[in-house]
Amino acid sequence: AGSLRLVGLTKRYRTGDQALSDVTLEVPPGQVLGLIGPSGAGKSTLIRCINRLVEPSAGRVFLDETEITALHAGGLRRARRRMGMIFQEYALVERLTVMENVLSGRLGYVSFWRSLFRRFPPRDIENAFRLLERVGLTEHADKRADALSGGQRQRVGIARALAQEPELLLVDEPTASLDPKTSRQIMRLIREVCAERGLAAIVNIHDVALAQQFMMRIVGLRAGRVVYDGPPEGLTPAV
Ligand code: ADP
Ligand code: ADP
Repeated sequence: AGSLRLVGLTKRYRTGDQALSDVTLEVPPGQVLGLIGPSGAGKSTLIRCINRLVEPSAGRVFLDETEITALHAGGLRRARRRMGMIFQEYALVERLTVMENVLSGRLGYVSFWRSLFRRFPPRDIENAFRLLERVGLTEHADKRADALSGGQRQRVGIARALAQEPELLLVDEPTASLDPKTSRQIMRLIREVCAERGLAAIVNIHDVALAQQFMMRIVGLRAGRVVYDGPPEGLTPAV
């Protein structure tokens, strides 16, 4: 399990938008951190700067001893394999089965497509099956992803991220497309799987009540700056 460290992370887009200003924080293994703040506060930018889907303008990102911000093509690709991503819109391959989507997380893009036209290693199938068991989807393993409900799809998204055996989870608005009850189930599942594996996670959550209920620590962003960092209980309604 990895620990994440952000030092002076800053992002100014070419449009002039100052999305992040000097954000410094550390997330130890096993900690599930909820990122809250109004729309435009910089939550997505922060998540995307960690794996450099967005290039930071200044500051540094470390995953354990690896400085992510110092890496080039090959090194960055390997480092990204250490970070699982879970998205609002699931980002599944709709025409593939649930099992195949999970295997794609396990094998990575190139090996996955090669295996799809030959065969998948039995060990990887077993591993994927165990993950589907964990998220409660074994009966749906052979269904196409587009045949599932939103909550089921997000479970596939979680299993796929875990299949890559990440050291860190980056979770961007995982429940924004789900109803309240399903949202709570998904948040609970994310929290539990992180606890079981000692995985650090940063979860971008629009809904403050949901964050307070399920996150171990809350970081509040406003206009790209950290305005709260502490336990959920300490959060005042003003944040
Ligand atoms: P970067 O500085 O990271 O290269 P850009 O300013 O080039 O980012 O913008 C990247 C993309 O995001 C462009 O396609 C742009 O149209 C789009 N974009 C621009 N402004 C915004 C905004 N305020 N919110 C979301 N997307 C935006
Ligand atoms: P949040 O996730 O909290 O809603 P974002 O990280 O999406 O916040 O946005 C932070 C700020 O950066 C906003 O002012 C937004 O308009 C701007 N922004 C986001 N993405 C881009 C982009 N690709 N290009 C230019 N500006 C962007």
